[in-house]
Amino acid sequence: MSLLEVESINTLYGDSHVLFDVSLRVEENEVVALLGRNGAGKTTTLRTLMGALSPRSGTIRLDGKPIHGLRPEKIARVGMQLVPEERAVFGTLTVEENLRVARLTAQKPWSLDRIWEVFPRLKERRTSRGRTLSGGEQQMLSIARALIRDPRIILLDEPFEGLAPLIVQDLIALTRRLAQEGRTIVVVEQNVAAVLSFAQRVYGFNNGHVVYEGQAADLRADAAPMRAFMGLA
Ligand code: ATP
Repeated sequence: MSLLEVESINTLYGDSHVLFDVSLRVEENEVVALLGRNGAGKTTTLRTLMGALSPRSGTIRLDGKPIHGLRPEKIARVGMQLVPEERAVFGTLTVEENLRVARLTAQKPWSLDRIWEVFPRLKERRTSRGRTLSGGEQQMLSIARALIRDPRIILLDEPFEGLAPLIVQDLIALTRRLAQEGRTIVVVEQNVAAVLSFAQRVYGFNNGHVVYEGQAADLRADAAPMRAFMGLA
């Protein structure tokens, strides 16, 4: 049994059918990338996993237990955390307050010291308000807020979007470290080269369908299948 098993989900926005029989699985300790051009359905998949959208049909299981149809708060409690594209940071709270709020309802939250060890930059800025952080620092805080809850799975939506190349390098190093420490991660990202440097397995999306599944190493060796589902062929 995989940690996360998604079987044949269909998700609609009103009458607009966006995900068509999407199936995927994520093993414990695995980093899985969802790739595809804009509008292919990757964010909708993450939002469906997190319970922000209810699939019209299909099943989502975490540890074998159905979670589709549960509310996002409940899904968070059973161990899934979404780091949204827009970054989940309270601008008026300090870095430390942001982290303390995120810990509140977690079952076995990390200590602040453990977070400071992974994110020394956030420790330096612990008394700064969220809104005064740089984009990269906000992204780190957004990831730290998910991590402090010790989730089974972290969903990262476009973590590198809009950030300078040097900051992206830092975030890649961070993600690689989390992967090496055995965190389970699902990542959606347009920066394909960055993602292929740390993901193990890839699903390719096109028009709301999963059209490719394979090893990241295979795509690093031969990008032709990826060019096809990214519409670059
Ligand atoms: P992107 O990188 O642009 O976010 P994506 O692969 O994540 O791409 P989605 O955001 O999941 O794609 O969008 C999939 C489809 O759903 C697109 O056709 C989009 O226009 C549509 N869509 C997204 N959000 C809504 C919404 N709130 N209402 C209606 N349609 C939507």
